[in-house]
Amino acid sequence: MISNEMVKLGTKRSVIRELFEYGKKRATEIGAENVYDFSLGNPNVPAPECVKQAILELVNDSDPTLLHGYTSAPGDLETRTAISDYINERFNTSLTPNHIYMTVGAAASLCISIKALTVPGDEFITFAPFFPEYTVFTNVMGAELKVVSVNTENFQINFESFKQLLSPQTKGIIINSPNNPSGVVYSEETIKELTTILKEKSEEYGHPIYLISDEPYRELVYNGLKVPYLMNYYKNTLVCYSYSKSLSLPGERIGYVAVSDQMENSSEVYAAICGAGRALGYVCAPSLFQKVIAKCVKATSDISTYEEHRDIIYNGLTKLGYNCIKPDGAFYLFVKALEEDANAFCEKAKKHELLLVPGDDFGCPGYVRISYCVSKKQILDSLPAFAELIKEYK
Ligand code: PLP
Repeated sequence: MISNEMVKLGTKRSVIRELFEYGKKRATEIGAENVYDFSLGNPNVPAPECVKQAILELVNDSDPTLLHGYTSAPGDLETRTAISDYINERFNTSLTPNHIYMTVGAAASLCISIKALTVPGDEFITFAPFFPEYTVFTNVMGAELKVVSVNTENFQINFESFKQLLSPQTKGIIINSPNNPSGVVYSEETIKELTTILKEKSEEYGHPIYLISDEPYRELVYNGLKVPYLMNYYKNTLVCYSYSKSLSLPGERIGYVAVSDQMENSSEVYAAICGAGRALGYVCAPSLFQKVIAKCVKATSDISTYEEHRDIIYNGLTKLGYNCIKPDGAFYLFVKALEEDANAFCEKAKKHELLLVPGDDFGCPGYVRISYCVSKKQILDSLPAFAELIKEYK
């Protein structure tokens, strides 16, 4: 007898993966240039030059047994120091390397954070639309995930719904801004309201409610917008960061968890993070890329390409009559489907070779996600297909 829960997880492909596989098959049939695949959030902007330089220097100049050897379990001290120094410089915090734990990307950061905090009976709350893996990550750690219903007016937080879901069982909140799939950045006003409620409720329940900030898209913001740094608003914050999108390194699997030094029981929570990393087998994140990060900690991929793509697709689709919120960040556009059932809409879109992801799995039926981290040519070439698609509904 083995775990049915794991068999189910391992056999059921996500809708996104399903679409991606379909797109690859379709490309062999009609040519890749005729398939408008907007399914995956895989950065199409290369990693900055400093990443290549750092890899070359490290490979050429380091002792290979050290370069490819185990690092200390939470990560190289030098890397954790570079990260904590940089966070302090940017956000005026006072972190030390002993608040940073190196991970294999945001997914691992989330799993470690949830594992570190959870005891049986705990609940986490997140906000629709949300990254569907949160359900997997919380459930597998023995916690329940409650989802705040969407505020379709502006995709900020629906506070009425949020207040109804809070309870003494609430261990933590998972927040993702810039958001996948809406591209929305939570405003400072939203963050202030959220953290005020969390402070009040922590007091009322007599235990801290932790705020887990999932931030793989922090650097992908447009028009100079600032994304509030949550540790500056709420002491019981853990940041789950990743270089997958900011440095276009999703396949290298590198990120970190940062625990606020202001947290009530900061050193105990950091110890639990180290323990969860150990228990889950997430120790010694990839050595080469830890050392690359130490050298490129201030770098970001050229995000002007995403901004240009956002403008082309947003302006193109709204001109055609599609309804969507203008994203301030990430590389997704969340569009209202032209019929109630987003799955049926996506099936019709497929007939025009448009591969769009239905919003249902993000907790937001009736919407579809477009990943615009694709070539400019694909975006421009797809607009006539979107025009044909909307004609079907007129
Ligand atoms: N969180 C969100 C909101 C994401 O969109 C993703 C990946 O797309 C992740 C976490 C996982 O990121 P990583 O590749 O760093 O594990």
